[in-house]
Amino acid sequence: MTAALAEADIAICGGGPSGSALAALLAKAGRDVLVIERNAEPVFSVGESLLPFGNRVLEAIGVRMDGFQRKEGAVFTDGDRTTRVAFAEAARPTWTFAHQVPRADFDGRVRRAAIGAGARFVTATVEALAPPCAVTDRGIVRANRVIDAMGREGRLSKQLGQRRYHPQLRNAARTLWYRDVRSFPPEVPGDIVISCFEGGWFWLIPFADGVTSVGSVTTKESGIRGDWDAALARC
Ligand SMILES: Cc1cc2nc3c(=O)[nH]c(=O)nc-3n(C[C@H](O)[C@H](O)[C@H](O)COP(=O)(O)OP(=O)(O)OC[C@H]3O[C@@H](n4cnc5c(N)ncnc54)[C@H](O)[C@@H]3O)c2cc1C
Repeated sequence: MTAALAEADIAICGGGPSGSALAALLAKAGRDVLVIERNAEPVFSVGESLLPFGNRVLEAIGVRMDGFQRKEGAVFTDGDRTTRVAFAEAARPTWTFAHQVPRADFDGRVRRAAIGAGARFVTATVEALAPPCAVTDRGIVRANRVIDAMGREGRLSKQLGQRRYHPQLRNAARTLWYRDVRSFPPEVPGDIVISCFEGGWFWLIPFADGVTSVGSVTTKESGIRGDWDAALARC
């Protein structure tokens, strides 16, 4: 029989931004929350360019965003045409800015907000969800509610046979961080640049410390023809 690891009113599996933010909100509402996260400390992840709508939650749980690159819009280009979209021109511009965030730093801040609100974290890898239990490599967590916040590695939809893939989103991504990127300058510093090429697109996400996250997205079939750096240089 598998040993008991912990008990809680609500067990959240996965301590990324979603799991940690939910933990913070629930803990602030007085619930007993345990987050089961496999990484003792947040690690590198893609998903570095935030959108303004998330500010509402970040503010509600008290995440400090100082030091992150401010982002006021996005520039789209295909080499011939360039268009800028400013958040301030959105239909309901409650927030006119977001941030570019190295994820380990950002995820750590959301996690600390959850801990500050009273949520507990345990380092363990979830192996199966069996509500009201989560089975981990370190034992069973019993809870009244079990929430799957494991992102793309979420297990519940797979276990229930309900996971569906959108054919247009079955893409492949590759990302690297560069210093001193000299792509064409965005009209406003901090904008994300989306540069399209035949069969895919690059993102350029500038961080406050001069590093730029560069990633390519292509269909799994097409990939990037030839050399990645050469394709990037053409953008
Ligand atoms: C190529 C690419 C680019 C993207 N770019 C952007 C972007 O620019 N802006 C944006 O807003 N979004 C972007 N996204 C989406 C973004 O990455 C996700 O929306 C975001 O990470 C979701 O957060 P989450 O907390 O739900 O999941 P995740 O960030 O995936 O967090 C899941 C957590 O669960 C933990 N976990 C996983 N499995 C287990 C397990 N078995 N046991 C215990 N813990 C586990 C992980 O360690 C992790 O901490 C991008 C996604 C991709 C694939």
